Amino acid sequence: MKIPVTGGEIKLQEIGFTLVHEHLKTESEAVKIQWPHIYSEELAFKNAVEEVKRAKSLGVSTICDASVMGLGRDVRFIERVAKEAKINVVVATGVYLRSELPFYFLGRNEEEIAELFVHDIKNGIQGTQTKAAFLKVTTDPSLTQDVELALKAVAIAHEKTKAPIYTHTNAHMKTGLEQQRIFKEMGVDLARVCIGHTGDTTDMDYIKKILGEGSFVGLDRYGLDYLLPVEERNKVLQDLIKDGFADQILVSQDYCCSIDWGIAKPENKPLLAPRWSMTLVFEEVIPLLRKISDELVEKIFVENPQRFLGKI
Ligand SMILES: [Zn+2]
Repeated sequence: MKIPVTGGEIKLQEIGFTLVHEHLKTESEAVKIQWPHIYSEELAFKNAVEEVKRAKSLGVSTICDASVMGLGRDVRFIERVAKEAKINVVVATGVYLRSELPFYFLGRNEEEIAELFVHDIKNGIQGTQTKAAFLKVTTDPSLTQDVELALKAVAIAHEKTKAPIYTHTNAHMKTGLEQQRIFKEMGVDLARVCIGHTGDTTDMDYIKKILGEGSFVGLDRYGLDYLLPVEERNKVLQDLIKDGFADQILVSQDYCCSIDWGIAKPENKPLLAPRWSMTLVFEEVIPLLRKISDELVEKIFVENPQRFLGKI
């Protein structure tokens, strides 16, 4: 089978080493439209190309960009970076929200919202030929009416397209369980879902509840030390492997090559995320996995992404 990437599609067997959750740039859409003078497209491009090329030189062949509405998804920018760095980028559709959807969605139902996502998957994104390969939705910090609407819309789009779902959660608020509950009620096969950011917690009961329902878990924020340091993330990873869950683990960094959020200002980075990059897993995770076996690296970075992205 084939999966869509920027500029076309590739065979699922050929995705190679894959980072399942990264961002080539992250921008606040409303701010960018109103005050474009504070943005530099060329600087963002340079940052992304440099970082992606570094990842490629270490063996990465495919990057899933988890940007959607709310994070400034810009498919032409993604296409440009992918072409320059000669790498496959898998693109998402869906919505990133904390509590409320934009006013456009007032008075619109989940079926209408799902149609937008289906359009991106079937026809292409933002007027380009590039199609979305997976759905993304968020529940952080809690389930509001609009968050529930977005979850249901994503479930409907999944049912219509069979595209897998990758979520953003607040692991400390255990919102992954609420996502699974709603998806289950909507008839989603939970094996086609990755509950993202599960690796932000060391609460093994919570993590195993999610795994018990058959979903993948995203240990996908390596480098965001202010949420959980690398060493503790690795302890969770090793314990899950020991307990037989290697088939359900997806590892990534959620790295943003550029990000306009005030919390991520350069002066804050040394405090919040001193080692965050798109290649940290090569320093901190892969050597540790190789000590167990080379097959394990292949499983977590090649086979599991294939099973997540592929249609069963
Ligand atoms: Zn992300």
